[in-house]
Amino acid sequence: MADPSSPIREEVFAIAPYNAGLTIDEVRRRHGVEVVAKLGSNENPNGPSAGIASVLSAIHELARLYPDPSGRALTAEIAGRFGVEESQVVLGNGSEDLIAVICRAVVRPGDTVATLYPSFPLHEDYTTLMGGRVDRIAVRPDLTIDVDALVAAARRKPRMLLFANPMNPVGSWLTPAELDRVIAAVDPETLVVVDEAYAEYAAGQDYPSTVDLLRGTPLNWAMLRTFSKAYGLAGLRIGYGIASSAELCGFFDRVRTPFNTNAVAQAAALAALADPAHLDLSVAMALSERDRIGKALLDLGYRIAPSKCNFLFFDADRDATVLAEALLAGGVIVKPWKQPGFETFVRVSIGSPVENDHFLAALKAVSPA
Ligand SMILES: *Cc1c(COP(=O)(O)O)cnc(C)c1O
Repeated sequence: MADPSSPIREEVFAIAPYNAGLTIDEVRRRHGVEVVAKLGSNENPNGPSAGIASVLSAIHELARLYPDPSGRALTAEIAGRFGVEESQVVLGNGSEDLIAVICRAVVRPGDTVATLYPSFPLHEDYTTLMGGRVDRIAVRPDLTIDVDALVAAARRKPRMLLFANPMNPVGSWLTPAELDRVIAAVDPETLVVVDEAYAEYAAGQDYPSTVDLLRGTPLNWAMLRTFSKAYGLAGLRIGYGIASSAELCGFFDRVRTPFNTNAVAQAAALAALADPAHLDLSVAMALSERDRIGKALLDLGYRIAPSKCNFLFFDADRDATVLAEALLAGGVIVKPWKQPGFETFVRVSIGSPVENDHFLAALKAVSPA
């Protein structure tokens, strides 16, 4: 609770510490297990492209100098891929940095930010930190996105519509026609921000090209991507945003810290983009393993959400925190969901085939509910 005698702002009291889960080392020490399957943070089991080795040979010089504050080599590459101007691309220290930057630039005290629920906690936290309030649009009972409710939320003219597609933690998504319906309901004074952290896994059938849909509109918008998931660079912290105009992007630039992305991360991201074969392999493995694990969970009697991502969200039919603790003792890290209404749900990342088997064996050892 807020404390008027504290130097800390009331809004800071209102957010919970980020639940990043345990590290592999912590689980080894606490539970005395040697082999740990880290399936709580949606990292790529294959890691980054081998092309990252080129960064190592340059590390002495990269470390010595300040990085290019706007990361021009990388923003040029990204702009080319999306057919936008370089001045529409902004880099972030992970896309979470850009979520914070956008909230700092946009949210006034008392503003409403509409988002999907269960939510990516940082979409809510950075809103709360700026004194905004969150309008949560809950999924339907079958765990698909409630498009009618999202359209209704857009019509209420929030300051910002900020959501992930596909959504995290659920994995469900808006199709091109559904996203089109939502966009058509947005007021010109609302900023639309679509967080596409899992787009590389979702690309293809039934998934929109958000930039193409948005650029035909008069709206202010941004689309966020990350190198942390399918590109396997979570430890280096780099992501990017594409904004509707150079002007909007320029405001985000003013709000971010000048050297928010480091030189090693910029170079590694370029190496990642230069290796589409590694990306394809990582995505193909995640999708086939997701099918396999999904079927196994269904066979065990669990209800799972639809997913276009490298994770599955399932109803454990019991306190998810208790199940997650039991799995930890078996050397498996998953993410028990803690938001109201979803306390029996677990999000498990799709790891390597060996890690996924480890998860299934540990789950069977503690089942049934
Ligand atoms: C993982 C994730 C991010 C950001 O990750 P970074 O590592 O900060 O790039 C952003 N949004 C969603 C929905 C995510 O799941």
